[in-house]
Amino acid sequence: MLKITPILCRAGKMNNYAYLLVDNDTQTAAVLDASEAAPIITECEKQNIAPQFLLNTHHHFDHVEGNPQLQKLYNCQIVGAEADRGRIDNMTIGLQDGDIFKLGNSEARIIAADGHTIGHILWYFPQDKVLFTGDTLFNLSIGGLFEGTPEQMWNTLQKIKSLPDDTLFYPGHEYTVYGLNTLSGKSGEAYIAKAQNRLEQGLPVSPITLGEEKECNIYLRASRLSDFMHLLG
Ligand code: ZN
Ligand code: FE
Repeated sequence: MLKITPILCRAGKMNNYAYLLVDNDTQTAAVLDASEAAPIITECEKQNIAPQFLLNTHHHFDHVEGNPQLQKLYNCQIVGAEADRGRIDNMTIGLQDGDIFKLGNSEARIIAADGHTIGHILWYFPQDKVLFTGDTLFNLSIGGLFEGTPEQMWNTLQKIKSLPDDTLFYPGHEYTVYGLNTLSGKSGEAYIAKAQNRLEQGLPVSPITLGEEKECNIYLRASRLSDFMHLLG
Protein backbone atom coordinates (compact mmCIF):
# COMPACT_ATOMS: atom_id res chain seq x y z
CA MET A 1 0.00 0.00 0.00
CA LEU A 2 1.09 3.51 -0.83
CA LYS A 3 0.74 6.56 1.35
CA ILE A 4 0.25 9.58 -0.91
CA THR A 5 0.77 13.20 0.20
CA PRO A 6 0.09 15.99 -2.31
CA ILE A 7 2.45 18.95 -1.97
CA LEU A 8 1.34 22.23 -3.52
CA CYS A 9 4.26 23.91 -5.31
CA ARG A 10 4.45 27.31 -7.06
CA ALA A 11 1.40 28.19 -4.96
CA GLY A 12 -0.77 30.95 -6.39
CA LYS A 13 1.22 30.89 -9.62
CA MET A 14 1.29 27.62 -11.55
CA ASN A 15 -0.19 25.58 -8.67
CA ASN A 16 1.76 22.40 -9.41
CA TYR A 17 1.37 19.26 -7.34
CA ALA A 18 4.33 17.19 -6.32
CA TYR A 19 3.46 13.93 -4.57
CA LEU A 20 5.33 12.25 -1.76
CA LEU A 21 4.82 8.50 -2.08
CA VAL A 22 5.72 6.10 0.72
CA ASP A 23 5.42 2.33 0.41
CA ASN A 24 3.93 1.31 3.77
CA ASP A 25 5.58 -2.15 3.93
CA THR A 26 9.14 -1.00 3.40
CA GLN A 27 9.00 2.77 4.01
CA THR A 28 10.62 3.21 0.59
CA ALA A 29 9.80 6.74 -0.53
CA ALA A 30 9.72 8.76 -3.74
CA VAL A 31 8.72 12.21 -4.90
CA LEU A 32 6.76 12.39 -8.12
CA ASP A 33 7.19 15.57 -10.20
CA ALA A 34 9.48 17.53 -7.88
CA SER A 35 8.33 20.95 -9.02
CA GLU A 36 10.28 22.96 -6.46
CA ALA A 37 12.50 21.78 -3.65
CA ALA A 38 11.51 23.93 -0.64
CA PRO A 39 7.93 22.78 0.03
CA ILE A 40 8.94 19.18 -0.71
CA ILE A 41 11.82 19.26 1.78
CA THR A 42 9.46 20.73 4.39
CA GLU A 43 7.06 17.81 3.91
CA CYS A 44 9.84 15.19 3.94
CA GLU A 45 11.15 16.63 7.21
CA LYS A 46 7.66 16.70 8.69
CA GLN A 47 7.25 12.98 7.88
CA ASN A 48 10.86 12.22 8.70
CA ILE A 49 11.28 10.56 5.30
CA ALA A 50 14.22 10.58 2.89
CA PRO A 51 13.03 9.86 -0.65
CA GLN A 52 15.19 7.43 -2.63
CA PHE A 53 13.61 8.15 -6.00
CA LEU A 54 12.48 11.19 -7.97
CA LEU A 55 9.82 10.05 -10.41
CA ASN A 56 8.92 12.19 -13.41
CA THR A 57 5.96 12.39 -15.78
CA HIS A 58 7.66 14.67 -18.32
CA HIS A 59 10.50 17.11 -18.85
CA HIS A 60 8.81 20.51 -18.38
CA PHE A 61 10.62 22.80 -15.94
CA ASP A 62 7.65 23.20 -13.61
CA HIS A 63 7.76 19.42 -12.97
CA VAL A 64 11.50 18.81 -12.65
CA GLU A 65 13.12 21.95 -11.22
CA GLY A 66 13.30 20.52 -7.69
CA ASN A 67 15.22 17.44 -8.87
CA PRO A 68 18.85 18.65 -8.58
CA GLN A 69 18.55 19.95 -5.02
CA LEU A 70 16.63 16.89 -3.81
CA GLN A 71 19.05 14.54 -5.56
CA LYS A 72 21.95 16.21 -3.82
CA LEU A 73 20.26 16.25 -0.42
CA TYR A 74 18.89 12.68 -0.42
CA ASN A 75 21.11 11.02 -3.02
CA CYS A 76 18.08 10.07 -5.11
CA GLN A 77 17.81 8.14 -8.35
CA ILE A 78 16.03 10.17 -11.03
CA VAL A 79 13.48 8.11 -12.95
CA GLY A 80 11.69 9.13 -16.12
CA ALA A 81 10.77 8.10 -19.64
CA GLU A 82 13.70 6.82 -21.67
CA ALA A 83 12.45 9.25 -24.34
CA ASP A 84 13.17 12.14 -21.95
CA ARG A 85 16.79 11.13 -21.33
CA GLY A 86 18.74 14.26 -22.17
CA ARG A 87 15.78 16.50 -21.36
CA ILE A 88 15.54 15.50 -17.67
CA ASP A 89 18.93 16.27 -16.10
CA ASN A 90 20.87 13.44 -14.42
CA MET A 91 18.26 10.80 -15.20
CA THR A 92 19.53 7.48 -13.87
CA ILE A 93 16.64 5.13 -14.74
CA GLY A 94 14.80 5.29 -18.09
CA LEU A 95 11.46 3.53 -18.51
CA GLN A 96 9.30 2.50 -21.46
CA ASP A 97 5.62 1.83 -22.00
CA GLY A 98 4.56 -1.25 -20.04
CA ASP A 99 7.60 -1.29 -17.75
CA ILE A 100 7.04 -2.08 -14.08
CA PHE A 101 8.76 0.15 -11.52
CA LYS A 102 8.99 -1.16 -7.97
CA LEU A 103 8.79 1.27 -5.07
CA GLY A 104 9.37 -1.18 -2.23
CA ASN A 105 6.44 -3.59 -2.47
CA SER A 106 4.33 -1.16 -4.48
CA GLU A 107 4.35 -1.54 -8.25
CA ALA A 108 3.82 1.12 -10.89
CA ARG A 109 3.04 0.31 -14.49
CA ILE A 110 4.30 2.89 -16.95
CA ILE A 111 1.80 4.05 -19.56
CA ALA A 112 3.15 6.01 -22.53
CA ALA A 113 1.05 9.16 -22.92
CA ASP A 114 2.18 11.20 -25.91
CA GLY A 115 0.24 14.42 -26.42
CA HIS A 116 1.19 17.20 -23.98
CA THR A 117 4.77 16.21 -24.78
CA ILE A 118 6.28 13.32 -26.70
CA GLY A 119 7.57 10.95 -24.05
CA HIS A 120 5.10 11.97 -21.33
CA ILE A 121 4.31 8.98 -19.11
CA LEU A 122 1.55 8.13 -16.64
CA TRP A 123 2.38 6.35 -13.39
CA TYR A 124 -0.30 3.69 -12.72
CA PHE A 125 -0.29 1.64 -9.52
CA PRO A 126 -2.88 -1.08 -10.28
CA GLN A 127 -2.89 -2.68 -6.80
CA ASP A 128 -3.46 0.69 -5.16
CA LYS A 129 -5.80 1.76 -7.95
CA VAL A 130 -4.11 5.13 -8.33
CA LEU A 131 -2.96 7.00 -11.42
CA PHE A 132 -0.66 10.01 -11.63
CA THR A 133 -1.49 11.91 -14.79
CA GLY A 134 1.02 14.80 -14.86
CA ASP A 135 -0.02 17.33 -17.49
CA THR A 136 -2.10 14.84 -19.49
CA LEU A 137 -5.35 14.82 -17.48
CA PHE A 138 -6.48 17.52 -15.05
CA ASN A 139 -9.76 17.77 -13.17
CA LEU A 140 -12.26 18.70 -15.89
CA SER A 141 -9.61 19.51 -18.50
CA ILE A 142 -6.48 18.22 -20.23
CA GLY A 143 -2.98 19.51 -20.86
CA GLY A 144 -2.18 21.59 -23.92
CA LEU A 145 -0.55 20.03 -26.97
CA PHE A 146 3.04 21.28 -26.80
CA GLU A 147 4.64 18.48 -28.81
CA GLY A 148 2.05 15.85 -29.73
CA THR A 149 -0.80 15.78 -32.22
CA PRO A 150 -4.53 15.73 -31.40
CA GLU A 151 -4.58 12.09 -32.53
CA GLN A 152 -1.82 11.19 -30.07
CA MET A 153 -3.63 12.92 -27.21
CA TRP A 154 -6.85 11.20 -28.21
CA ASN A 155 -5.16 7.79 -28.13
CA THR A 156 -3.69 8.58 -24.72
CA LEU A 157 -7.10 9.58 -23.35
CA GLN A 158 -8.59 6.32 -24.64
CA LYS A 159 -5.97 4.44 -22.60
CA ILE A 160 -7.00 6.39 -19.50
CA LYS A 161 -10.67 5.68 -20.24
CA SER A 162 -9.92 1.95 -20.38
CA LEU A 163 -8.70 1.92 -16.76
CA PRO A 164 -11.15 0.87 -14.00
CA ASP A 165 -13.70 3.48 -12.86
CA ASP A 166 -12.64 3.15 -9.22
CA THR A 167 -9.08 4.27 -10.02
CA LEU A 168 -8.19 7.48 -8.17
CA PHE A 169 -6.34 10.01 -10.27
CA TYR A 170 -3.86 12.68 -9.20
CA PRO A 171 -3.03 15.49 -11.68
CA GLY A 172 0.07 17.68 -12.03
CA HIS A 173 -1.71 20.98 -11.34
CA GLU A 174 -4.67 22.38 -9.42
CA TYR A 175 -6.54 23.63 -12.48
CA THR A 176 -10.08 22.59 -11.49
CA VAL A 177 -11.44 26.16 -11.45
CA TYR A 178 -10.77 26.52 -15.18
CA GLY A 179 -12.93 23.50 -15.95
CA LEU A 180 -15.89 24.22 -13.70
CA ASN A 181 -17.77 26.28 -16.29
CA THR A 182 -17.73 23.34 -18.73
CA LEU A 183 -20.05 21.37 -16.43
CA SER A 184 -23.77 21.11 -16.77
CA GLY A 185 -26.42 18.65 -15.73
CA LYS A 186 -26.92 16.37 -12.75
CA SER A 187 -23.60 14.55 -12.54
CA GLY A 188 -21.87 17.91 -12.94
CA GLU A 189 -23.61 19.27 -9.84
CA ALA A 190 -22.09 16.61 -7.63
CA TYR A 191 -18.62 17.25 -9.06
CA ILE A 192 -18.94 21.03 -8.57
CA ALA A 193 -20.12 20.60 -4.97
CA LYS A 194 -17.21 18.30 -4.16
CA ALA A 195 -14.68 20.53 -5.91
CA GLN A 196 -15.86 23.74 -4.25
CA ASN A 197 -15.96 22.07 -0.85
CA ARG A 198 -12.38 20.86 -1.16
CA LEU A 199 -11.07 24.14 -2.55
CA GLU A 200 -12.74 26.12 0.26
CA GLN A 201 -10.88 23.93 2.74
CA GLY A 202 -7.62 24.61 0.91
CA LEU A 203 -7.44 20.97 -0.21
CA PRO A 204 -6.66 19.55 -3.65
CA VAL A 205 -9.79 18.61 -5.58
CA SER A 206 -8.22 15.25 -6.44
CA PRO A 207 -8.25 12.45 -5.82
CA ILE A 208 -11.34 12.02 -7.93
CA THR A 209 -12.28 8.63 -9.35
CA LEU A 210 -11.81 8.06 -13.07
CA GLY A 211 -15.48 7.08 -13.10
CA GLU A 212 -16.50 10.57 -11.98
CA GLU A 213 -13.99 12.15 -14.34
CA LYS A 214 -15.22 10.13 -17.33
CA GLU A 215 -18.75 11.39 -16.62
CA CYS A 216 -17.83 15.05 -16.26
CA ASN A 217 -14.65 15.85 -18.23
CA ILE A 218 -15.72 17.00 -21.70
CA TYR A 219 -12.49 15.66 -23.26
CA LEU A 220 -13.12 12.19 -21.83
CA ARG A 221 -16.80 12.37 -22.73
CA ALA A 222 -16.00 12.87 -26.42
CA SER A 223 -16.75 9.52 -28.05
CA ARG A 224 -15.25 10.22 -31.47
CA LEU A 225 -11.98 11.75 -32.58
CA SER A 226 -13.89 14.36 -34.62
CA ASP A 227 -15.82 15.49 -31.51
CA PHE A 228 -12.55 15.72 -29.62
CA MET A 229 -10.93 17.79 -32.39
CA HIS A 230 -13.93 20.11 -32.22
CA LEU A 231 -13.32 20.71 -28.51
CA LEU A 232 -9.71 21.65 -29.21
CA GLY A 233 -11.06 24.35 -31.54
ZN1 ZN B 1 3.96 20.29 -18.76
FE1 FE C 1 2.98 21.61 -15.91
